[in-house]
Amino acid sequence: MSDRFQPLERLMSEDGRGIEVRWGDGHRSVYPFLYLRGYCPCASCQGHGGGPRKWTDPEDVDLKGVRLVGNYGINPAWSDGHDSGIFADRYMRSICPCPTCLDITEYGPPLKPLVGLEQSSD
Ligand SMILES: [Zn+2]
Ligand SMILES: [Zn+2]
Repeated sequence: MSDRFQPLERLMSEDGRGIEVRWGDGHRSVYPFLYLRGYCPCASCQGHGGGPRKWTDPEDVDLKGVRLVGNYGINPAWSDGHDSGIFADRYMRSICPCPTCLDITEYGPPLKPLVGLEQSSD
């Protein structure tokens, strides 16, 4: 696995409403809970069609807990009771909502831009 998909640290984001990941290549991603919930990769959220990831438009959620899944990823438990999504590291990196990554995701760009993380680019 390349450094790009290797999380070095996972932290609570500064505002307490998201998960921050520091990657092996130096990149830093901040994922608001709602964003992760909306791109939950489980089959009941995404269906079996493959293709671009669907935004599932969830209600706002809190994180109740998060479980590490081996060397593979994380499994968050949300306040709405949903806990079947396993976010592989590779998937997490691929949905990084920062302005740089939004264009290059391998899961069918563009993902829903995230209000609050958008930067004024000009
Ligand atoms: Zn799900
Ligand atoms: Zn990024």
